Amino acid sequence: MFLCDFCACHPPSWTYPCTDFESPEMSFSVSKGNWAACNDCYQLIEARDTHALIQRSATAFLSRTAEVLPQEHLPSLEHICEYLEKLYTEFERHRTGDPHPFDQEHTASHAP
Ligand SMILES: [Zn+2]
Repeated sequence: MFLCDFCACHPPSWTYPCTDFESPEMSFSVSKGNWAACNDCYQLIEARDTHALIQRSATAFLSRTAEVLPQEHLPSLEHICEYLEKLYTEFERHRTGDPHPFDQEHTASHAP
């Protein structure tokens, strides 16, 4: 099942063409190919509202993580936001063009 690569809680509607890159702080983790975005994230990306996009993704990530990790092992929201800011900066640098309607054949998963 495909999910938005940003918030990871909705099926994607858009594909952003992107080249491979190493995730910041996690050189073992490589972003492969295109990124998928749901409609809500797409609108934030297009509006260049990175702050709102990070808040949205970080909050969603934290609530998913809270289901599988005990409270004391949860990363702080601040830490997640810092990481996502670096990740999305890399994404913007490696983007190769404008988004087009989601195409699952050419999209890999990047959810953190
Ligand atoms: Zn999304």
